[in-house]
Amino acid sequence: MKYISTRGNAPELSFAEAMLTGLARDGGLYVPKSIPTLSQDEIAAMAGLPYEEIAFRVMKPFIGDCFTDEEFQGIIARAYEGFRHTARAPLVQMGPNHYLLELFHGPTLAFKDFAMQLIGQLFQFELERRKERVTIVGATSGDTGSAAIEAFRGLNNVDVFILFPDGRVSDIQRKQMTTPADKNVHALALEGDFDDCQARLKDMFNDFEFRDGVKLAGVNSINWARVLAQVVYYFSSALSLGAPNRKVSFTVPTGNFGDIFAGFIAKQMGLPIEKLVIATNQNDILHRTMETGACTKAGVTPSISPSMDIQVSSNFERALFFAYDKDGDAVTKLMEEFNEGSFTISQGAMEWLRDQFASGRASEEETKKTIRNEFAETGEVLCPHSAIGVKVANEQLSEVPMITLATAHPAKFPDAVEDAMGARPALPPHMGDMMEREERVCQVPNQLALLETLIKDRIAAR
Ligand SMILES: *Cc1c(COP(=O)(O)O)cnc(C)c1O
Repeated sequence: MKYISTRGNAPELSFAEAMLTGLARDGGLYVPKSIPTLSQDEIAAMAGLPYEEIAFRVMKPFIGDCFTDEEFQGIIARAYEGFRHTARAPLVQMGPNHYLLELFHGPTLAFKDFAMQLIGQLFQFELERRKERVTIVGATSGDTGSAAIEAFRGLNNVDVFILFPDGRVSDIQRKQMTTPADKNVHALALEGDFDDCQARLKDMFNDFEFRDGVKLAGVNSINWARVLAQVVYYFSSALSLGAPNRKVSFTVPTGNFGDIFAGFIAKQMGLPIEKLVIATNQNDILHRTMETGACTKAGVTPSISPSMDIQVSSNFERALFFAYDKDGDAVTKLMEEFNEGSFTISQGAMEWLRDQFASGRASEEETKKTIRNEFAETGEVLCPHSAIGVKVANEQLSEVPMITLATAHPAKFPDAVEDAMGARPALPPHMGDMMEREERVCQVPNQLALLETLIKDRIAAR
């Protein structure tokens, strides 16, 4: 199994190499050269198996010969042992034909733990084998950072630096990033928004001298291994509802397009998925793109669903790559135009995209109303991101069962939830003292050179 860049101009890599590399050297994202499929019998045979076993069978065709079966099973087992629900990703019924997939039972209470815990174990295994160290730099709108820190804290072969937009993450999200005491963890509060964080991260990857000097590795949702980890719960949840003999649809609260792209991969692998619905908040560039065919940046307006406050949706490039029939030059051209602010998708590619994805958006008011109504009708307390999914899913219900991804625990966003429904969701007991723990954080200006110096100094000081 080889991986190629969406811009067609970087070396082909193995799974482990693509994982350690993150962003391709031509600025593109790695995708499998061809997507492996599972037969309907192979899918049916996974019904009722533990999450870890489904994970092994779904991901194995993508890893080539990078790990033995035994090694890979061990990695998966360690990745998910810290989850606080034995089903890992349990389904809850919301209505006659609507289900919620709870992806918030991991250590940081957001779905990002599914990918990050796995990637932590994969990195640890691979770097030990290679006797190498890397510097992980991540940009976060809140949940990626805490998930990355939780996955890599205390590991010998890794320094982890997380850039987050100063003042634009929730208190819990910030605490989760700034309170771990491990020496290899560095939380950096950047003056700017999430797109600034992501842009500086891209700059670091494109500065080859810096990149090679500190052995930079990326764990943002551009990392293929993260997308792959997320493919698994599309299978596990669909199997619970009768796949492959019954089709299901999914609605996915979307920011960077990573989670929903994993759904696309599941479908390409042979999982019978009827509809994949993109749900956005008021920062609705993806919904507008699906409606108009024009992808045009507008400023980010901070919302009560901060993990979706994104205008540059990096994984959308992977969808474009498939929409343009794997034409790396066409994707390169679109991305260059996007750097200037806007690009228009060809009619053929747009038809392909509309065939694969539906879309919807929720305003701030609609999000709050959904939190209030769903609590009244089902007793389920939704986080604002999950509420956006539920609102958009409710518009798309049909005779095919709908699964909405609940991407975070409501207690991660207590102010928004309290404002919406009048009661404050409590943190799970094991996190009860989070707000009292001491913080370590470094405020940084939005300047590449300063950031690079700081990172080099911190590594040298270890
Ligand atoms: C990251 C995140 C999202 C968006 O996921 P993408 O993969 O970036 O589309 C949605 N909800 C929550 C809670 C998140 O942390």
